[in-house]
Amino acid sequence: MRMSGRVMPLFDARPLRAPAPGPAAARDLPVGRPLADTLGRPLRDLRISVTDRCNFRCGYCMPKQVFDKHHQFLPHADLLSFEEITRLARVFVGLGVEKLRITGGEPTLRRGLDSLIAMLAALRTPDGRELDLTLTTNGSTLARKAAGLKAAGLKRLTVSLDGLDDAVFQRMNDVGFPVADVLDGIRAAQAAGLGPIKVNMVVQRGVNDDQIVAMARHFRHSGVVLRFFEFMDVGATNGWRMDQVLPSREVQRRIAAQWPLAPLSHSAPGETAERWAYADGGGEVGFISSVTQAFCGDCNRARLSTEGRLYTCLFATRGHDLRGLLRGAEPAGDGELASAIAGVWAGRTDRYSQLRGTAAAGAEPRVEMHYIGG
Ligand code: SAM
Repeated sequence: MRMSGRVMPLFDARPLRAPAPGPAAARDLPVGRPLADTLGRPLRDLRISVTDRCNFRCGYCMPKQVFDKHHQFLPHADLLSFEEITRLARVFVGLGVEKLRITGGEPTLRRGLDSLIAMLAALRTPDGRELDLTLTTNGSTLARKAAGLKAAGLKRLTVSLDGLDDAVFQRMNDVGFPVADVLDGIRAAQAAGLGPIKVNMVVQRGVNDDQIVAMARHFRHSGVVLRFFEFMDVGATNGWRMDQVLPSREVQRRIAAQWPLAPLSHSAPGETAERWAYADGGGEVGFISSVTQAFCGDCNRARLSTEGRLYTCLFATRGHDLRGLLRGAEPAGDGELASAIAGVWAGRTDRYSQLRGTAAAGAEPRVEMHYIGG
């Protein structure tokens, strides 16, 4: 069945209301009061999708049968401009965000990305600290772009790589992209000083689980932190099946059978990875178990989609239109934007991974990951 052109980004059609402009809006700001959602979770991490396009067609994210040449990506005019992204990021930082992750789609495909990085790198927290500014990429352009990203102010980055065997990796990215070019990109990023670099591997049982030990061997003693992701039921197009999820416990067992592991403590609140160290000093590995060990309890992440919708969960079905506030007939001021965002966060109830499989998780189609960013 051809599904092209029918993958619709989902959003709440009701306009997100800014409070009435003027002193009242400023007074409503949660100044001095920590912002928390209905489950007491603060807002610390903002993921910004800068493009819905990608040069890979990984079956678990943007399967070729759906995202083929007929698929209509967003027109450029619908994307948030760099000025709009930076303005929103500044407002989010005022509400407690300390970490910005640029993502997509493939973020390095967005023209002029270095300029956006430089604009975001100039932001400071209310008490004057620099932000943790990072980027997630498939690594395909890094050999050319890593040095420029670093010079623009990027601090570190995460590269996705699902195997070391070319046949396996090329089958997964479905565009024939070679492993060697991603490894060259990782080396270029290391040489540019974009460390510590993390490498994300999505594990699909029967697809690339034979790559687990080879990946661990390759990245031991390299300074790169390898992290294994369970295959998640994001979006509505990747044909997710529970029997293709290899639980992190099993991934960990296979690695520990070769090289004993010792647990490490969480490095930051809201950290998604369970961290382990090779007992022989070979470095660190992480396990992200969104399916078998849900970690909604301390999730402090918000997501800004390519066209400026705010999502409060990776598995959301609805977003909130911030671009409408920026571009409306009477554009919202920063105080009004802050009040609107704070209102969304204060009402946040999301805990999809904990509810997965129950009626409470809902049955509406979930938004696609390349659109809200990983
Ligand atoms: N193009 C960039 C990249 O490849 O890293 C950034 C966007 S991509 C959507 C972000 C991350 O999400 C990647 O590490 C990708 O492997 C991961 N991802 C996408 N779909 C996934 C799924 N169904 N389950 C687990 N991880 C997934």
